[in-house]
Amino acid sequence: MAPIARLTALALVFSAAFVNAAPALAPYDTSSPPPALTTTENYASAVEPVAAGPILSKRATATVITTCTKPGTIAITFDDGPSEFTDGLLDFLKKKNAKVTFFLNGNNYGNIENHKDVVKRAYKDGHQIASHTYSHADLATLSKKKIETEMKSLDTIIKKIIGVRPTYMRPPYGSFNKLALDTLGSMGYKVINWDRDTQDWQHPDKVLTSLKVYEKSFKEAKALTNAGHIFLQHDTNRLTALELGPKAIDMALKLGYKVVTVGSCLGNNDPKSWYRV
Ligand SMILES: [Zn+2]
Repeated sequence: MAPIARLTALALVFSAAFVNAAPALAPYDTSSPPPALTTTENYASAVEPVAAGPILSKRATATVITTCTKPGTIAITFDDGPSEFTDGLLDFLKKKNAKVTFFLNGNNYGNIENHKDVVKRAYKDGHQIASHTYSHADLATLSKKKIETEMKSLDTIIKKIIGVRPTYMRPPYGSFNKLALDTLGSMGYKVINWDRDTQDWQHPDKVLTSLKVYEKSFKEAKALTNAGHIFLQHDTNRLTALELGPKAIDMALKLGYKVVTVGSCLGNNDPKSWYRV
């Protein structure tokens, strides 16, 4: 584009930001539908035109968190459950006084309604209950409305079971796009991925292969004084719940790490901050 044409285009774009009462939308991947404008206070107050450059809008979009911020802590996260193996894992965690985070599905490998007691127990034992969507859908492929339905339908069930709704979530497959982050942000979720993946689902019988991911992380220089990692695995796999989890936790504790929830490893120690009513 010639300089004059570019300036004209910028001027048009700039003035459009102020002519329209509605906030300007940032460009979206054409494979995704643009987000519908919402009138919720949270969203509207977070959006305002910026006075220079291309149209930018501040919105309550979510930031994807992948690592701990507190030195000496690690967060071990278990996805896709609850499962028939989760209770055995909870027994071990209780013995060691270690806390972990469960990113639960409503209906994936099993149905959460069939594992209410284990969800209640995990919550009462001080582990963090977080959302992994109702059906393990790829949020990058869904409309705003469908994303909201995935989140709200699981929240409703979790609230029936433990009396509160989680504020932390993990997108299935770690997959998201701008629309997903905007939607999750406007709904008030913290989005948590990971920075250490055991890939236990790829080699469910090879506990030692998964354990090497922990070993390697712990061997890294100054690991204890730097911010810790968020590890990913799945308690829907028997060996992960009953062998990998315990072995990793034993290894971490022996080396002096604190095995804590995602909330705590980010400095949010009060469990109340992990939930809302
Ligand atoms: Zn998952």
